Amino acid sequence: MKILSVNAGSSSLKFTLFEMPEEKELISGVFERIGLKESFYTIKIDGEKNKKDAELPDHKKAFELLMKELKDNKIIDDYSEIKGIGHRIVQGGAYFDKSVLATPENVDIVSKLSSLAPLHNPAAVVGIKAAQAVVPDAVQTLVFDTAFHQTMPEVNYMYAVPYEWYTKYSVRRYGAHGTSHKYVSLKANEILGRKDTKLITCHIGNGASISAVKDGLCVNTSMGLTPNAGLMMGSRCGDIDASIVAYISECENLSAAEINTKLNKESGFLGISGVSSDARDIEDGIAKGDERCILAQNMYVKKIVDYISMYYVEMGGCDAIIFTAGLGENSVLLRKQVLEKLSCLGVKLDEERNNVRGKQTLITADNSKIPVYIIPTNEELMIATDTYNLTK
Ligand code: ADP
Repeated sequence: MKILSVNAGSSSLKFTLFEMPEEKELISGVFERIGLKESFYTIKIDGEKNKKDAELPDHKKAFELLMKELKDNKIIDDYSEIKGIGHRIVQGGAYFDKSVLATPENVDIVSKLSSLAPLHNPAAVVGIKAAQAVVPDAVQTLVFDTAFHQTMPEVNYMYAVPYEWYTKYSVRRYGAHGTSHKYVSLKANEILGRKDTKLITCHIGNGASISAVKDGLCVNTSMGLTPNAGLMMGSRCGDIDASIVAYISECENLSAAEINTKLNKESGFLGISGVSSDARDIEDGIAKGDERCILAQNMYVKKIVDYISMYYVEMGGCDAIIFTAGLGENSVLLRKQVLEKLSCLGVKLDEERNNVRGKQTLITADNSKIPVYIIPTNEELMIATDTYNLTK
């Protein structure tokens, strides 16, 4: 059964087509600069990438071109072969604890949740409507970044702010990257051969979050009402003293919205190093002895260790720690620094095993009290799996 996994941004549309349940990736790609000048798309089939210029006035046109490519490349003979389309949705609020069908009522809730994800939810709705117009017979589903975190207990999702902010404005922790945390924790349980596990899953990419997953259910996660909570990230500050906002507003005569932009786009690695939000540039800076890059890295490592130790205590132990996403899968240095700081928990790094990028593997010694694994994430496949199950 052919299932399409879709991630629509305001000017982009990423897609991967799978043959399910074989989990075979047939084609993937991205349409970029939708609604702008000089739009184009890239498609990848059998490892071969092809870039093409195309006029993309809207997402519907992108879907039409995608379907044409599928036919031209003989991946399908007819649109009706696409049985399911799964849409990635950033914010499902407290409404969705699992993937659901894209009924008009559910899509309406996604629209209404736009105030909690103003850049993402409206774009996703545009994507859903475009897909429904071009491939009306496919079952369309909504797969939420927040759903996996809905099992958190109240004590972990509430903020100690006036209670009315929760009842009136839905202020609480929702988390993000849930599809990735779910995927790697399912894989980890497969590796461990059981489901009654205590896992700490570290999604460390440009955006970064850590989750505590007990018996397959999320009990805590580091991102909050928005993704700018918890760890320090590429350009986000993560947890800070909330009063900094009022203080800087006075000092620099900036609005809350302007400060919010700085805390999301000019902080983290970028803010501290003054060099870049990209971990590879930070690592280059460290190699050259740049003190602010060294400080940025040390702060980042400390935050990751803080969250791992917090969740270790919260779950009363840990059966495995998982690293995933850009840095988690590829940064040998970051993993080494984090694991060395966890030696008091009996974690023993194996430097040779850790010297690897983007591959599922164990990176600790056989006598490490907690095994640590790299598990490359695959959010697209998780979306396709949920969609396949709903379509069946
Ligand atoms: P996003 O949150 O945008 O999905 P990714 O998960 O793709 O981000 O992660 C991007 C981050 O991963 C960047 O900071 C990048 O520098 C880092 N990264 C990718 N490859 C490497 C590498 N070989 N060494 C260190 N960091 C890497």
